[in-house]
Amino acid sequence: MAVRSNGRRQMLWYNGAMETTGVQITETLLELVAFEREQVRYHTLPPDGQSGIAVVRGRRPVLISAPHGTAHVRRGRWKTEEEYTSAVAWWLARQTGAWVMYVTHALDPDPHADRDDSPFKMLMADVLTGNAIRLVVDLHGVRGDRDFALALGTINGSSCPTYEPCIVRALEAEGFARSDSAPSLRRLVLNHPRYAGGVYRQTVTRFASEQCGVEAAQLEINAWLRVVQRLEAATYHREAPHFRGEPAHIWRLLKALGAVIAAVD
Ligand SMILES: [Zn+2]
Repeated sequence: MAVRSNGRRQMLWYNGAMETTGVQITETLLELVAFEREQVRYHTLPPDGQSGIAVVRGRRPVLISAPHGTAHVRRGRWKTEEEYTSAVAWWLARQTGAWVMYVTHALDPDPHADRDDSPFKMLMADVLTGNAIRLVVDLHGVRGDRDFALALGTINGSSCPTYEPCIVRALEAEGFARSDSAPSLRRLVLNHPRYAGGVYRQTVTRFASEQCGVEAAQLEINAWLRVVQRLEAATYHREAPHFRGEPAHIWRLLKALGAVIAAVD
């Protein structure tokens, strides 16, 4: 697997001093859609000899990971793609200079249901070995009917003891709130029993923290904050073809994750 260089360098768009314009948001959302449409094959296995996993070298000590951006096989059954997680990971890395790993093709096996020996985890181990990476942020997606915007999982604090407070602060600074009475699309939950990041499974977060010695956190993102517009190829296109996330919420997510990456030095 070739590791590509992250060529384009841009101004730190998440700098609080910079005004956000409607044009900026619109252009960003169009970039996400174009990437998702052109680079991510939800249900197609990679061509022979290829892994279907992209790795882009970064210059910041953070690795963004998106292992479920395509359909993936868990214990013999295909699980649905977590739309736009690959696109969000790619976009954030390009904007911030973080490292990134994302899937471009259907994945077998799911790295959350392997024996820590799947190609995704082997590649991640290679990336984490010998590069100065201090935090892995593993991005995932949940359906739009969940009662939270973001679920941060740190295996009840054990996978990310140093950076968990910075991550929570960065998310709260963008308006996400750890309150049961917050509107669902602003609500942040930490170590939700179902999304704690690896209490029961051999997750990417658990692998990075326990096997590679690099702090890691899992972030589950509600569909309203990431699915810019549902593509024809998506599994859920059949039941909700016109689904579109809320641009202001998607933008808030991107800014918050940019701030998380910036907080690690
Ligand atoms: Zn997932």
